[in-house]
Amino acid sequence: MKMKPAQLDMILKELATIKERSPFYAKKFADVDMASITDQESFERLPFSEKADLREAYPLGIQAVPDEKIVRIHSSSGTTGTPVIIPYTQKDVDDWAEMFARCYKAIGCTKLDRVHITPGYGLWTAGIGFQLGAERFGAMAIPMGPGNTEKQLKMMVDMQSTVLCATSSYALLLAERIAQDGIRDKLALRKGLIGSERWGKKMRERIASELGVELYDIYGLTEIYGPGVGVSCQYNTGIHCWDDFVYMEVIDPKTGKTLPDGEVGELVITTLQKEGAPLIRYRTHDLSSIVPGDDCPCGLENTTRITQLVGRTDDMFKVKGVNMFPAQVEEVINSVDGVSSEYQVMIDHLNGKDIMTVYFECETSDPLRRHEIEDAVQETFKNRIGVTIVPKAEGIGDLPRSEKKSTRILDNRY
Ligand code: ZN
Repeated sequence: MKMKPAQLDMILKELATIKERSPFYAKKFADVDMASITDQESFERLPFSEKADLREAYPLGIQAVPDEKIVRIHSSSGTTGTPVIIPYTQKDVDDWAEMFARCYKAIGCTKLDRVHITPGYGLWTAGIGFQLGAERFGAMAIPMGPGNTEKQLKMMVDMQSTVLCATSSYALLLAERIAQDGIRDKLALRKGLIGSERWGKKMRERIASELGVELYDIYGLTEIYGPGVGVSCQYNTGIHCWDDFVYMEVIDPKTGKTLPDGEVGELVITTLQKEGAPLIRYRTHDLSSIVPGDDCPCGLENTTRITQLVGRTDDMFKVKGVNMFPAQVEEVINSVDGVSSEYQVMIDHLNGKDIMTVYFECETSDPLRRHEIEDAVQETFKNRIGVTIVPKAEGIGDLPRSEKKSTRILDNRY
């Protein structure tokens, strides 16, 4: 991704004073002569900021303004240890609302829309972000919060909600209940704005068809404002991220090297205007790629597009020098005719070479047809991912069933 001139200006301005404002960056960049950062190449030599650094700075070590400028904090979940606290100034809160308002506009909302918000309220950034954005945009926010499906459905009917904001799993649950209760005709839903986790194509299709709505992905994370940093548009060309607030990079998570556009790697985000807790080269652990080119038929300008998330860096594995993710294997499997959705990958190392065997289920038991399908899977894999695999067709129900994607990858090399 080539850094845009306006972004470089903002970054240089930010870096010029960051050490004075932020004790966190004074320490992190202690050995860096900030005057030596003049362009994209030198910027890419700056050390990354990690979630572990933010945990270490708990509670407010990341704060880069005097106390009287802080108006709010948010916190990312602490399920894996000490939580991270992010302080916001009034400008940060306003900027976040501005970005989120742009998201509602980008998906075709109007001031007449009624926005049904089911993500949670509280320390994390979900519910309140959806609400701030809706209010800033001028639509009507219906701040439900999560749970109590009965009440959600009643309000959806009574209030004639038009936009559903939800996680993909809650959207699916609601869709199923709506189908079960036969109340689709009483609803006015027309759009679904779904928080960015990785969700499969099949789940998306089910939610869209059962609810009869257009679905959009919204991206963001608590460390970087929250949801609203970017959103997909009706043309599904990726998630448009706002260039004046965030600078996006994609790196090889193993080597830290910046990857060319189109290659999947870890998203790294630099905030361009954040006051309370500016972040420089923050590693998100989200896997995506930058969509090459500037043009989308929707006409949105000054955005960088990223693809829908393909997973987390922890899911990544490397075979024959190529980084791969379960989602990519799944995509190949799903694209070959006659192959069902179940698969398992076995990786071995024999005679100095990696061997990747991909087991998948297919509908036919005819040996000749199975052989054809195996060839097709092998060829598609080679074309799309660049690795030659050993394809093994099995019958439907022959592979072990598992909810967890990671157990589908069996690595016998280490
Ligand atoms: Zn677009």
